[in-house]
Amino acid sequence: MILILLGAPGAGKGTQAQRLQDKHGLIQLSTGDMLRSAVSEGTEIGLKAKAVMERGDLVSDDIMTGIISDRLDQPDCTNGVILDGFPRTEAQAEALDSMLADKKMSLNAVIEMKTDDTVLVERVTGRYTCANCGAGYHDKFLKPAEEGVCDKCGGNEFSRRSDDTAETVTTRLQSYHNQTAPLLPYYKGKGILKQVDGMAEIEEVTLQIEALLKNI
Ligand code: AMP
Repeated sequence: MILILLGAPGAGKGTQAQRLQDKHGLIQLSTGDMLRSAVSEGTEIGLKAKAVMERGDLVSDDIMTGIISDRLDQPDCTNGVILDGFPRTEAQAEALDSMLADKKMSLNAVIEMKTDDTVLVERVTGRYTCANCGAGYHDKFLKPAEEGVCDKCGGNEFSRRSDDTAETVTTRLQSYHNQTAPLLPYYKGKGILKQVDGMAEIEEVTLQIEALLKNI
C-alpha cells in the first residue's frame, strides 16, 4: 500500500505516520528526516539543503524526486510506504506518478490532515524527539509518561529541530499554501483524496485514519 499524508507543518503527519508504521508495518518515508540526516552527515545533498531548510523554503524538486525514487527501490518498501512530506509541489506529484508507473507501483490514497493555521505555530514550536529512537513528543500535547524518559526506548536525550521556530513556521506555511495545497485538487481529480480532522486529538485522528484504511 502506498499512502500520502498531506498537511501543513504541524498538522501531525509525522506522528500519524509513526503510528501507521508501528501498527501496519508500512515504512514511514519522511523526506524532512532524510534531509536532516543528509545535513548532519554533511553529504552533497545535505550541503545543498541546509540553508534552504533553515529559511523554511523548499529543496529543489530534482533532489527530492531523486531521493524518493532511490528509497522506493530499497527492499523494505515492498510491504508499503507512507509518504510523509512528499510530494510538496505539483512537479513532485507528477514525478511521483511517473516513477510509480515505472516501478509498477500504485498510489492507494492521499490523506489530507485538515488544520487551521492558528494552532500550527504552537504545535511546531513545542515539539521534540527522542535523540535515540526518533519518537516524537510535544511540550503540551504529547508528553512522555515519565518526564525526561522516552516511552519507546527509555532514552533520556531529546532534540528539537532548528527550523521549528515561530519565524520559520510562517515561511513554511506560505510554502504549504502556495505550493503544496494545489495538490489537493490534483488528487481529488484522481478520486483518491480522503480527509481527516487534523485539529482533533492525536488518538482521534488515528481512529479516523484507521477507519479510512478499512475502505482502501
Ligand atoms: P519536514 O520535516 O517535512 O517539515 O521538512 C523539513 C524541511 O525539509 C522543509 O521545510 C523543506 O525545507 C525540506 N523538505 C522536506 N520535504 C521536502 C519536499 N518534498 N520538497 C522540498 N523540500 C522538502
